[in-house]
Amino acid sequence: MIALSLAEIAAIVGGQSYDIPDPSVQVTGPVVIDSREVRPGSLFAAFAGEHVDGHDYAVRAVEAGAAAVLAARPVGVPAIVVDDVQAALGALARAVVERLGTDVVALTGSAGKTSTKDLIAQVLQKHAPTVWTPGSLNNEIGLPLTALRATEDTQHLVLEMGARGIGHIRYLTGLTPPRIGLVLNVGTAHIGEFGGREQIAQAKGELVEGLPEDGGVAVLNADDPLVRAMASRTKARVVLFGEAEDAAVRAENVRLMENGQPSFSLHTPTGCSDVTLRLYGEHHVSNALAAAAVAHELGMPVEEIATALSEAGTLSRWRMEVTERPDGVTVVNDAYNANPESMRAALRALAAMGRAAQARGARTWAVLGRMAELGDDSLAEHDAVGRLAVRLNVSKLVAVGDREASWLQLGAYNEGSWGEESVHVSDAQAAIDLLRRELRPGDVVLVKASRSVGLEQVALALLENT
Ligand code: ATP
Ligand code: MG
Repeated sequence: MIALSLAEIAAIVGGQSYDIPDPSVQVTGPVVIDSREVRPGSLFAAFAGEHVDGHDYAVRAVEAGAAAVLAARPVGVPAIVVDDVQAALGALARAVVERLGTDVVALTGSAGKTSTKDLIAQVLQKHAPTVWTPGSLNNEIGLPLTALRATEDTQHLVLEMGARGIGHIRYLTGLTPPRIGLVLNVGTAHIGEFGGREQIAQAKGELVEGLPEDGGVAVLNADDPLVRAMASRTKARVVLFGEAEDAAVRAENVRLMENGQPSFSLHTPTGCSDVTLRLYGEHHVSNALAAAAVAHELGMPVEEIATALSEAGTLSRWRMEVTERPDGVTVVNDAYNANPESMRAALRALAAMGRAAQARGARTWAVLGRMAELGDDSLAEHDAVGRLAVRLNVSKLVAVGDREASWLQLGAYNEGSWGEESVHVSDAQAAIDLLRRELRPGDVVLVKASRSVGLEQVALALLENT
């Protein structure tokens, strides 16, 4: 963070100073909401959560070196007291970003925000000092905390924005107004909460509505009709990415290598260059193109972008994490989350990775759990995933859980002659027991479901003691 005095912070957030003997004391950061993360010079923002109240940790935070506490009431130690700590944190982030003049890149979408944000960060970092959202801290608290990590050196600030409803992204872009706004896709994630795809598009499109006419860039997925249509909602210049012919940043000759890693030729307005990703699954091609479009707009030459993309790894866990055990069983842990699009991409990657294994007599296993929040589409989507597993010649489907899992198995059954090649087990432990019994050297196992299923325990159990 840039150094600010307590007096300056109080003025920015419109707060009252309590128990502050010296208002010229500097806050040098980081700004934190967990007292265990306090460092000398920190500002500790006290939030009252459901189970813990940050105000109870104010003394501890100051003892650990915090210059002051941003709080909703006096706490007996140096504090700037405001009505609304969240709003104050947002105001502080906004002021700091404004003062720094850092270029803000904001991105949203139904799936792939964190994966793409990690790609953008790894590419831009080769070019200039970059600060980005850690993990998935993409809400009204995580976003300002991330923005406040920027320093005088920071050239690019890459911010993931999540939408839980209409108006949410507008609020976030108000805190840290982006110059470049990227929308990845409009899928079916959280469709139950939103009510439909159009509503999701409405909410995500808020990202491009506030972009400036002068210098603003809306980076939109040419292959997703609902995202493409957002071009009419912005005053900014539009840059399309995708496989569509009119996309300025385009992939050609997309193919999945034998190990499941995609390779393609990256075309930009200034030239083209070949890319092989170190990530698994063709859905990452779209994410990589989005990252390339952003990097291109920020002035990176295509060769540098291609090299950086080819070197980029995953920064976030449980997303297509591939581990080969000493006995030759390969575990693909994609248990972080699931939606119909990513289920299909993961199954295709599994099929590609397992093709050689199958030729040698080993098997591919899709250990899948439910995709949550699909509303009325749930049955059809689970059925379609089960069918796709059969069409891709996946050797064994293990559907884990209750109702939706039975739809996965039913889809597989309806698609062909499977019978014993698809099993339905009640829970993760049953899946672990089955796999421990059945796995043979050379087999490739994909583990994937929505976050709430917690299927990573299957992947982790399979990798124990290896
Ligand atoms: P969250 O809303 O939880 O923050 P996110 O949008 O940040 O999610 P990621 O964490 O990158 O998304 O990925 C979540 C899941 O979506 C992973 O299982 C990943 O394999 C899959 N995924 C990643 N990119 C895409 C994409 N372009 N299309 C479809 N699925 C994708
Ligand atoms: Mg995320």
